[in-house]
Amino acid sequence: MKSKKKPGGNRAVQSSSSVKTTQHTTTGPADVHALLSRLDNVKQTRSDAWKACCPAHDDRDPSLNVRLADDGKLLMKCWAGCQPIDILAAIGMDLSDLFPKRERDSWSKPVSPSQRWIPRDVLSALTSEHLIVLLVAEEVYQGNALSKADMNRFALAIGRLRNVAREVGGHE
Ligand SMILES: [Zn+2]
Repeated sequence: MKSKKKPGGNRAVQSSSSVKTTQHTTTGPADVHALLSRLDNVKQTRSDAWKACCPAHDDRDPSLNVRLADDGKLLMKCWAGCQPIDILAAIGMDLSDLFPKRERDSWSKPVSPSQRWIPRDVLSALTSEHLIVLLVAEEVYQGNALSKADMNRFALAIGRLRNVAREVGGHE
């Protein structure tokens, strides 16, 4: 028993409480039909559960159970012990297909090494390092001897420029 309150009781002051709200941030549960359409001998056993032949082993008597959980995830169990990843691979799907669908812009893939840099940072770094190179070139052009400190700073600038090239995936 969740509540002993009668439906309709105190209607005047609680009229808004009958409006159901949903907390889901996702656009919907995992696409169970995309999965079921790729399986053989599918039988619905409950409103949220199905049985089918497992595509990952030689299955004549349906031994794969599929269930759509309350949180929108798909659960799979093969009684022969096949792993979900193998079952999905056998039908051209992957583990992400078991999870609720999300808004495209809220779904962030892991950032690969070549995507770590922030363009604005790279450009501002390039600008200041190029300035160092230009200043050193002017000194040399005017016949001035470079100090050890200038030479070190020049080497640092070149090193940073090379790092930038490497960071964005270019050649050195
Ligand atoms: Zn199996």
